[in-house]
Amino acid sequence: MQQLVALHANRQDPARGSGPLIDLRGVSKIYETPAGAFTALSDVDLGIQAGEFVAIVGKSGSGKSTLLNLVAGLDRPTSGEVVIAGTPVHATGEDRLAGWRGRTVGVVFQFFQLLPTLTVIENVMLPMDFDGRVPVRQRPRRAQRLLERVGVLEQADKLPANLSGGQQQRAAISRALANDPPILVADEPTGNLDSQTADAILDLFADLAASGTTVVAVTHERDIQRRGARTLKIADGRLIDDSSAAFAEVPETMEAQSHA
Ligand code: ADP
Ligand code: MG
Repeated sequence: MQQLVALHANRQDPARGSGPLIDLRGVSKIYETPAGAFTALSDVDLGIQAGEFVAIVGKSGSGKSTLLNLVAGLDRPTSGEVVIAGTPVHATGEDRLAGWRGRTVGVVFQFFQLLPTLTVIENVMLPMDFDGRVPVRQRPRRAQRLLERVGVLEQADKLPANLSGGQQQRAAISRALANDPPILVADEPTGNLDSQTADAILDLFADLAASGTTVVAVTHERDIQRRGARTLKIADGRLIDDSSAAFAEVPETMEAQSHA
Protein backbone atom coordinates (compact mmCIF):
# COMPACT_ATOMS: atom_id res chain seq x y z
CA MET A 1 0.00 0.00 0.00
CA GLN A 2 3.03 2.25 0.39
CA GLN A 3 2.88 3.36 -3.22
CA LEU A 4 -0.71 4.52 -2.84
CA VAL A 5 -1.61 8.08 -1.97
CA ALA A 6 -1.51 8.16 1.81
CA LEU A 7 -4.61 9.97 2.96
CA HIS A 8 -3.86 9.31 6.60
CA ALA A 9 -0.52 10.94 7.28
CA ASN A 10 -0.61 9.63 10.82
CA ARG A 11 -2.62 6.51 11.47
CA GLN A 12 -2.21 6.75 15.22
CA ASP A 13 -3.72 9.78 16.88
CA PRO A 14 -0.68 11.48 18.46
CA ALA A 15 -2.82 12.75 21.32
CA ARG A 16 -3.39 9.14 22.37
CA GLY A 17 0.27 8.22 22.21
CA SER A 18 0.83 4.51 21.79
CA GLY A 19 -2.61 3.55 23.13
CA PRO A 20 -4.75 1.11 21.17
CA LEU A 21 -6.18 2.31 17.85
CA ILE A 22 -9.43 0.62 18.89
CA ASP A 23 -10.28 0.84 22.58
CA LEU A 24 -13.40 -0.76 24.11
CA ARG A 25 -14.01 -0.36 27.83
CA GLY A 26 -16.82 -2.02 29.74
CA VAL A 27 -18.86 -2.32 26.57
CA SER A 28 -22.31 -3.88 26.59
CA LYS A 29 -24.90 -4.07 23.83
CA ILE A 30 -28.52 -4.69 24.64
CA TYR A 31 -31.10 -5.08 21.88
CA GLU A 32 -34.67 -4.15 22.68
CA THR A 33 -36.97 -6.77 21.19
CA PRO A 34 -40.72 -7.32 21.44
CA ALA A 35 -39.88 -10.19 23.80
CA GLY A 36 -37.85 -7.85 26.01
CA ALA A 37 -34.26 -6.72 26.35
CA PHE A 38 -31.61 -9.07 24.97
CA THR A 39 -27.99 -8.74 26.05
CA ALA A 40 -25.89 -9.51 22.97
CA LEU A 41 -22.59 -8.30 24.40
CA SER A 42 -21.63 -8.08 28.03
CA ASP A 43 -18.87 -5.99 29.64
CA VAL A 44 -16.21 -6.31 26.95
CA ASP A 45 -12.78 -4.75 27.43
CA LEU A 46 -10.62 -4.86 24.34
CA GLY A 47 -7.69 -2.97 22.90
CA ILE A 48 -6.52 -3.42 19.31
CA GLN A 49 -3.25 -1.85 18.21
CA ALA A 50 -2.67 -0.30 14.79
CA GLY A 51 -1.58 -2.95 12.28
CA GLU A 52 -2.98 -5.94 14.17
CA PHE A 53 -4.73 -8.77 12.34
CA VAL A 54 -7.57 -9.87 14.61
CA ALA A 55 -9.99 -12.72 14.07
CA ILE A 56 -13.30 -12.97 15.91
CA VAL A 57 -14.50 -16.54 16.31
CA GLY A 58 -17.46 -18.17 18.03
CA LYS A 59 -20.71 -20.00 17.46
CA SER A 60 -23.61 -18.58 15.53
CA GLY A 61 -25.51 -16.08 17.67
CA SER A 62 -22.64 -15.60 20.12
CA GLY A 63 -22.29 -11.89 19.37
CA LYS A 64 -19.51 -11.83 16.72
CA SER A 65 -21.24 -9.42 14.34
CA THR A 66 -22.34 -7.25 17.25
CA LEU A 67 -18.73 -6.99 18.44
CA LEU A 68 -17.41 -6.35 14.93
CA ASN A 69 -19.93 -3.57 14.38
CA LEU A 70 -18.83 -1.89 17.60
CA VAL A 71 -15.13 -2.31 16.82
CA ALA A 72 -15.83 -0.63 13.48
CA GLY A 73 -17.92 2.21 14.85
CA LEU A 74 -20.82 0.92 12.73
CA ASP A 75 -23.00 0.65 15.82
CA ARG A 76 -22.93 2.19 19.27
CA PRO A 77 -22.77 0.47 22.66
CA THR A 78 -25.67 0.53 25.11
CA SER A 79 -23.10 1.22 27.82
CA GLY A 80 -19.35 1.55 28.02
CA GLU A 81 -16.83 3.45 25.93
CA VAL A 82 -15.71 2.88 22.35
CA VAL A 83 -12.81 5.04 21.21
CA ILE A 84 -11.58 4.50 17.65
CA ALA A 85 -8.62 6.38 16.22
CA GLY A 86 -9.17 9.02 18.88
CA THR A 87 -12.90 9.43 18.23
CA PRO A 88 -15.21 8.64 21.17
CA VAL A 89 -17.85 6.82 19.11
CA HIS A 90 -20.15 6.34 22.14
CA ALA A 91 -20.36 10.11 22.56
CA THR A 92 -20.46 11.31 18.96
CA GLY A 93 -23.65 12.07 17.01
CA GLU A 94 -24.56 9.94 14.02
CA ASP A 95 -24.38 12.92 11.63
CA ARG A 96 -20.69 13.38 12.45
CA LEU A 97 -19.98 9.67 12.55
CA ALA A 98 -21.17 9.01 9.00
CA GLY A 99 -18.40 11.03 7.34
CA TRP A 100 -15.84 9.87 9.88
CA ARG A 101 -16.69 6.24 9.11
CA GLY A 102 -16.16 6.76 5.38
CA ARG A 103 -12.58 7.84 6.08
CA THR A 104 -11.76 5.54 8.95
CA VAL A 105 -13.34 2.15 8.32
CA GLY A 106 -13.43 -0.02 5.21
CA VAL A 107 -16.10 -2.72 5.32
CA VAL A 108 -16.14 -6.07 3.52
CA PHE A 109 -19.26 -8.22 3.49
CA GLN A 110 -19.96 -11.91 3.06
CA PHE A 111 -21.92 -11.37 -0.14
CA PHE A 112 -19.55 -8.70 -1.56
CA GLN A 113 -22.37 -6.22 -2.22
CA LEU A 114 -20.86 -4.60 -5.26
CA LEU A 115 -23.37 -2.44 -7.13
CA PRO A 116 -24.45 -4.65 -10.05
CA THR A 117 -25.01 -1.87 -12.59
CA LEU A 118 -21.57 -0.29 -12.12
CA THR A 119 -18.33 -1.71 -13.48
CA VAL A 120 -15.75 -2.99 -11.03
CA ILE A 121 -13.64 0.16 -11.25
CA GLU A 122 -16.71 2.37 -10.87
CA ASN A 123 -17.55 0.45 -7.70
CA VAL A 124 -14.08 1.17 -6.36
CA MET A 125 -14.31 4.89 -7.18
CA LEU A 126 -17.70 5.30 -5.53
CA PRO A 127 -16.41 5.75 -1.94
CA MET A 128 -13.89 8.30 -3.26
CA ASP A 129 -16.81 10.25 -4.75
CA PHE A 130 -18.64 10.22 -1.39
CA ASP A 131 -15.58 11.20 0.62
CA GLY A 132 -14.21 13.75 -1.80
CA ARG A 133 -10.63 13.88 -0.53
CA VAL A 134 -9.07 12.18 -3.54
CA PRO A 135 -9.06 14.74 -6.39
CA VAL A 136 -11.41 13.73 -9.22
CA ARG A 137 -8.60 13.42 -11.77
CA GLN A 138 -6.69 11.01 -9.55
CA ARG A 139 -9.59 8.66 -8.83
CA PRO A 140 -9.33 6.33 -11.86
CA ARG A 141 -5.58 5.85 -11.41
CA ARG A 142 -5.96 5.25 -7.69
CA ALA A 143 -8.74 2.71 -8.30
CA GLN A 144 -6.55 0.93 -10.85
CA ARG A 145 -3.72 0.70 -8.34
CA LEU A 146 -6.07 -0.70 -5.71
CA LEU A 147 -7.41 -3.32 -8.12
CA GLU A 148 -3.84 -4.22 -9.06
CA ARG A 149 -2.94 -4.51 -5.38
CA VAL A 150 -5.59 -7.21 -4.87
CA GLY A 151 -5.01 -8.91 -8.22
CA VAL A 152 -8.12 -8.07 -10.27
CA LEU A 153 -6.99 -5.16 -12.44
CA GLU A 154 -7.91 -7.16 -15.56
CA GLN A 155 -11.53 -7.20 -14.41
CA ALA A 156 -11.75 -3.41 -14.01
CA ASP A 157 -14.23 -2.73 -16.81
CA LYS A 158 -16.49 -5.74 -16.27
CA LEU A 159 -19.74 -5.84 -14.38
CA PRO A 160 -19.55 -7.68 -11.03
CA ALA A 161 -21.81 -10.50 -12.27
CA ASN A 162 -19.09 -11.49 -14.76
CA LEU A 163 -16.53 -12.11 -12.02
CA SER A 164 -16.02 -15.21 -9.90
CA GLY A 165 -16.86 -15.02 -6.19
CA GLY A 166 -13.23 -14.67 -5.22
CA GLN A 167 -12.70 -11.92 -7.80
CA GLN A 168 -15.79 -10.09 -6.55
CA GLN A 169 -14.49 -10.25 -2.99
CA ARG A 170 -11.12 -8.89 -4.14
CA ALA A 171 -12.91 -6.04 -5.89
CA ALA A 172 -14.94 -5.41 -2.72
CA ILE A 173 -11.70 -5.25 -0.72
CA SER A 174 -10.35 -2.64 -3.18
CA ARG A 175 -13.52 -0.65 -2.68
CA ALA A 176 -13.13 -0.90 1.10
CA LEU A 177 -9.60 0.51 0.75
CA ALA A 178 -10.66 3.36 -1.56
CA ASN A 179 -10.21 6.10 1.02
CA ASP A 180 -7.16 4.50 2.66
CA PRO A 181 -8.89 3.75 5.95
CA PRO A 182 -6.66 2.75 8.88
CA ILE A 183 -9.17 0.01 9.75
CA LEU A 184 -10.59 -2.78 7.58
CA VAL A 185 -13.40 -4.94 8.98
CA ALA A 186 -14.99 -8.00 7.44
CA ASP A 187 -17.92 -10.11 8.62
CA GLU A 188 -17.48 -13.69 7.40
CA PRO A 189 -15.75 -12.49 4.22
CA THR A 190 -15.01 -16.06 3.14
CA GLY A 191 -18.39 -17.51 4.08
CA ASN A 192 -19.47 -17.62 0.46
CA LEU A 193 -16.21 -18.88 -1.05
CA ASP A 194 -14.64 -22.29 -1.60
CA SER A 195 -11.78 -23.08 0.78
CA GLN A 196 -8.98 -22.42 -1.70
CA THR A 197 -10.39 -19.03 -2.66
CA ALA A 198 -11.05 -18.29 1.01
CA ASP A 199 -7.39 -19.00 1.78
CA ALA A 200 -6.26 -16.53 -0.85
CA ILE A 201 -8.55 -13.84 0.55
CA LEU A 202 -7.27 -14.41 4.10
CA ASP A 203 -3.69 -14.23 2.82
CA LEU A 204 -4.59 -10.89 1.31
CA PHE A 205 -5.92 -9.66 4.67
CA ALA A 206 -2.73 -10.83 6.40
CA ASP A 207 -0.76 -8.97 3.75
CA LEU A 208 -2.75 -5.78 4.30
CA ALA A 209 -2.22 -6.04 8.05
CA ALA A 210 1.51 -6.52 7.49
CA SER A 211 1.57 -3.27 5.53
CA GLY A 212 -0.09 -1.33 8.36
CA THR A 213 -3.86 -1.66 7.97
CA THR A 214 -5.63 -2.87 11.10
CA VAL A 215 -7.74 -5.84 10.00
CA VAL A 216 -10.58 -7.28 12.08
CA ALA A 217 -12.52 -10.18 10.61
CA VAL A 218 -15.21 -12.55 11.80
CA THR A 219 -14.09 -15.91 10.50
CA HIS A 220 -13.69 -19.61 11.21
CA GLU A 221 -11.05 -20.77 13.62
CA ARG A 222 -9.49 -23.17 11.14
CA ASP A 223 -8.90 -20.28 8.74
CA ILE A 224 -6.68 -18.23 10.97
CA GLN A 225 -4.67 -20.87 12.79
CA ARG A 226 -1.81 -20.78 10.34
CA ARG A 227 -1.82 -17.01 9.86
CA GLY A 228 -0.82 -15.97 13.35
CA ALA A 229 -3.81 -13.71 13.72
CA ARG A 230 -4.80 -12.65 17.21
CA THR A 231 -7.94 -14.61 17.97
CA LEU A 232 -10.83 -13.34 20.06
CA LYS A 233 -13.20 -16.08 21.09
CA ILE A 234 -16.68 -15.04 22.02
CA ALA A 235 -19.48 -17.04 23.67
CA ASP A 236 -22.87 -15.78 24.82
CA GLY A 237 -21.79 -12.17 24.40
CA ARG A 238 -18.64 -12.49 26.46
CA LEU A 239 -15.03 -12.44 25.41
CA ILE A 240 -13.89 -15.80 26.75
CA ASP A 241 -10.47 -16.03 25.14
CA ASP A 242 -7.96 -13.64 23.67
CA SER A 243 -4.91 -15.29 22.13
CA SER A 244 -2.85 -12.17 22.68
CA ALA A 245 -3.01 -12.85 26.41
CA ALA A 246 -0.61 -15.73 25.75
CA PHE A 247 2.00 -13.24 24.57
CA ALA A 248 1.46 -10.84 27.46
CA GLU A 249 3.61 -12.96 29.77
CA VAL A 250 7.17 -12.46 28.63
CA PRO A 251 9.21 -15.65 29.03
CA GLU A 252 12.10 -15.27 31.49
CA THR A 253 14.76 -15.82 28.87
CA MET A 254 13.37 -13.05 26.67
CA GLU A 255 13.09 -10.74 29.64
CA ALA A 256 16.73 -11.39 30.49
CA GLN A 257 17.71 -10.55 26.92
CA SER A 258 15.74 -7.34 26.92
CA HIS A 259 17.65 -6.17 29.99
CA ALA A 260 21.00 -7.10 28.48
P1 ADP B 1 -23.22 -13.80 15.46
O1 ADP B 1 -22.69 -12.81 14.49
O2 ADP B 1 -22.17 -14.37 16.38
O3 ADP B 1 -23.99 -14.89 14.80
P2 ADP B 1 -24.87 -11.57 16.35
O4 ADP B 1 -23.91 -10.60 16.91
O5 ADP B 1 -25.41 -11.29 15.01
O6 ADP B 1 -24.24 -13.05 16.43
O7 ADP B 1 -26.10 -11.71 17.33
C1 ADP B 1 -25.95 -12.00 18.71
C2 ADP B 1 -27.31 -12.17 19.33
O8 ADP B 1 -28.00 -10.93 19.28
C3 ADP B 1 -28.19 -13.17 18.59
O9 ADP B 1 -28.94 -13.86 19.54
C4 ADP B 1 -29.07 -12.30 17.73
O10 ADP B 1 -30.31 -12.92 17.51
C5 ADP B 1 -29.21 -11.05 18.56
N1 ADP B 1 -29.38 -9.85 17.72
C6 ADP B 1 -28.50 -9.41 16.79
N2 ADP B 1 -28.93 -8.27 16.24
C7 ADP B 1 -30.12 -7.99 16.81
C8 ADP B 1 -31.08 -6.93 16.67
N3 ADP B 1 -30.88 -5.93 15.81
N4 ADP B 1 -32.20 -6.99 17.44
C9 ADP B 1 -32.39 -7.98 18.31
N5 ADP B 1 -31.53 -9.00 18.51
C10 ADP B 1 -30.40 -9.01 17.78
MG1 MG C 1 -22.79 -12.72 12.44
